[in-house]
Amino acid sequence: MGSSSALPTSQRNTTAQLVNHAERFFLVDCGEGTQIQLRRFNLKFFRIDHIFISHLHGDHFFGLPGLINTFNLLGRKKDLHIFGPASLQEFINAIERYILHHMSYEIIFHPLNFSEKEMIYENKLLKIFSFPVSHKIPTCGFLFEEKKLPRNIIKASIEKYKIPIQQIKAIKDGADFDYNGTIIPNTEITIDSPEPRQYAFCTDTAYDEQIIPFIKSCNLLYHEATFLDDMEERASETYHSTARHAGKIAKKAEAGKLLLGHFSSRYKNFKPFVDQASEVYDGEVIIAEDGMTLKL
Ligand SMILES: [Zn+2]
Repeated sequence: MGSSSALPTSQRNTTAQLVNHAERFFLVDCGEGTQIQLRRFNLKFFRIDHIFISHLHGDHFFGLPGLINTFNLLGRKKDLHIFGPASLQEFINAIERYILHHMSYEIIFHPLNFSEKEMIYENKLLKIFSFPVSHKIPTCGFLFEEKKLPRNIIKASIEKYKIPIQQIKAIKDGADFDYNGTIIPNTEITIDSPEPRQYAFCTDTAYDEQIIPFIKSCNLLYHEATFLDDMEERASETYHSTARHAGKIAKKAEAGKLLLGHFSSRYKNFKPFVDQASEVYDGEVIIAEDGMTLKL
């Protein structure tokens, strides 16, 4: 919903992404105007119960007051979980104190850990981790990782071997089946579940190989590419990356695809971002656009 860096442009808002996993919506960063983008792109934003804020530069969280206020005006009842640097708590308290007279719902704040990778959320299907990246101030990336589901029973084999319901769970977990004294091997009556998918979000960060183990083999890597090669010095001064840096990380992490974003507002042509990243990374390089949907 936002693919620009610090300054929004008429085409690109500041950072925000929505991750939809099995119709649960997770908001990652919340730049100014994120609630407008949610409306513009027709996203059912009441499904958002979890918001992850990577760091406290304004372009990543100044959308919170408006979104929190709108939820309240619309009479939200469900808890809203916000994850971010510890001092974000003060900002949220101030929103509650100064902007809102009465909160219709509760905000539950979870401080992030900036020293190591940590699981911050888990449900039956999914785990979400935070991990430190290298920026001017404490900053986290996030990894969305599906769980490996049990094997699926082949429906026809339930009829063929008259498998009783009570045994199905054990078979899904790998047990063989005793069919009147004949052992039917598990692999004959089940198929493997789909391979779990992973999405890694890395913003804002200098080139840092230490993040590679955190995101290894993810299907899709979002890596910031604020600059091109011509601004490499500026990138290191400001703890940002170039498209080539992002390509190197994607290559070393063996990422399936690379999504670039957080572009400096000075750039109007984005082909060189693809070209420079592709010189070091063989996979598909995608330029983030506001309103773009990617399916894994
Ligand atoms: Zn930043």
